Amino acid sequence: MKETINVYTCKSGHRLVTVDRQAGVTPFIIGCKHPGCAERAQSNFYLVDQKHTPTHEWYRPSLREYETLDPHSKDHVSNGGLLLREIDSDREHEPPMSDETLEKIRPTFVIDSLGPASIKTNATFANIVNRFKKRKKQR
Ligand SMILES: [Zn+2]
Repeated sequence: MKETINVYTCKSGHRLVTVDRQAGVTPFIIGCKHPGCAERAQSNFYLVDQKHTPTHEWYRPSLREYETLDPHSKDHVSNGGLLLREIDSDREHEPPMSDETLEKIRPTFVIDSLGPASIKTNATFANIVNRFKKRKKQR
């Protein structure tokens, strides 16, 4: 896959340049990584200059690293989410788990485990799309 550059910006204007190393889901909001800053940083949805030099990378962990994660992060990864780490060329990383492995750890009971919250989220998303369509028509 083509590696994609993204920028996360917090209210104080700190910018974090990231690169997606594998295909996967990245969060819309993360904690600002600037030292001493407690703001939340928001994604620019990849609509940024792709020539930026990233300091952090989104990656799919190896199965071994996955096993060491907390339950929340495990959930995120097994649903196709990527993890964030600082880019450090001096450190060697294990290769990411394969698509087949990811498929194996993917939860089978997605609808059951997410429950009404997921249905609510989908409904909200549909509402937003509908509202947008209506607004477009009015113009
Ligand atoms: Zn900040």
